[in-house]
Amino acid sequence: MSRRFMRQKGQRERKRIAGERIEVLFTLAERIFPYEPELADRYVEIALAVQRKAKIRMPRKWKHRYCKKCRSLLVPGVTARVRLRDGHVVTRCLICGHTMRHPYIREQKERRKKRTVKKTYF
Ligand SMILES: [Zn+2]
Repeated sequence: MSRRFMRQKGQRERKRIAGERIEVLFTLAERIFPYEPELADRYVEIALAVQRKAKIRMPRKWKHRYCKKCRSLLVPGVTARVRLRDGHVVTRCLICGHTMRHPYIREQKERRKKRTVKKTYF
């Protein structure tokens, strides 16, 4: 095995581990939030540091679960207001008031796909 191959393999491994750490940190943040919201925010901060350092993308699952501005954990109905508007999910952070908009094209596409599957089925 070439040295380059080994290096790439090492990097992949590091990124995988970083991804796992992010998963653990966000899971912990969600769990601790009702008792110690400040600690939850701290976990989010650490998760973001891990993500930056490993230069990986934030997993889709957690991507919209923190405020891009103040980095608080966003819990719908508690620290965030979530509304649907014009094909977007509008999330407003109730801590700092920052608003984030994300299109939900993917979900629409999936629904469309499901519908066509149903048609051929029946
Ligand atoms: Zn915020």
